[in-house]
Amino acid sequence: MIQNSKRFSELKKLSIDLGYPVGVKTVIWKQGGYRNMSLRVDKDGNVYLNSPFRMPEHDVISFIKRKESWLKKHLLAIKNRSLRDGIKGEQVRYFGRLLTLELVEAPYNKLVFTSDSLKFYCTNIGDYEYRNKVFSKLWKEEALEVFTRKALDIFKLIFGNSRPVPEVKIRKMKSMWGNCRPIKNIITINESLLKADEDVMNYLILHELAHLVHAKHDKAFYNFIETYMPSYRKAKARLKHISIAPAEV
Ligand SMILES: [Zn+2]
Repeated sequence: MIQNSKRFSELKKLSIDLGYPVGVKTVIWKQGGYRNMSLRVDKDGNVYLNSPFRMPEHDVISFIKRKESWLKKHLLAIKNRSLRDGIKGEQVRYFGRLLTLELVEAPYNKLVFTSDSLKFYCTNIGDYEYRNKVFSKLWKEEALEVFTRKALDIFKLIFGNSRPVPEVKIRKMKSMWGNCRPIKNIITINESLLKADEDVMNYLILHELAHLVHAKHDKAFYNFIETYMPSYRKAKARLKHISIAPAEV
């Protein structure tokens, strides 16, 4: 029975370029015992075209062309819906503040932080995996810029020109906020620290820089930290309440 059904319908795929921002779509073309051609878009944005048998391809394409604006409207609506569904949290924490996330389809990828919003410009906001990959890269770049600058300021305050400036690396880490390798002169900061308020950021960076001269978390280590940040205990306590998980959009 299944083999026989081949005689009743035939499937073909057509690629059709609907232009920015929809792009190229595949149309699944089914020829069967239909009287007329019809076009359908399902909830996931798949496009189906039914036609009578032996319909010439150019007739099918011109039919789709005539329906282009209808098709674009539907596909964009689905794209926007999947976009909303894909957002894990509509707010992102940054410098201790909750920013409202705004996703903007754009010909480039960029993060713009304002006092109450984070605008994420992305070339394909409808593609959840791509969007998250881009966001992750941009977030890491932001972390590198912010923490390199802060580490340099704090380092200069403590050590002046008495030793070489350490390299700052940014990583996603599941169980650590930072670490320090004094011999290699590298401090590594967890990119999720961007969520923390500035005192917490300063404390963590000061903590890692202190490891350049104090290996253990002993009294001398904390005395050293207290010299440069008398209120460090409050910041240290707040750090425990910040989620270490990477920010996702
Ligand atoms: Zn430590």
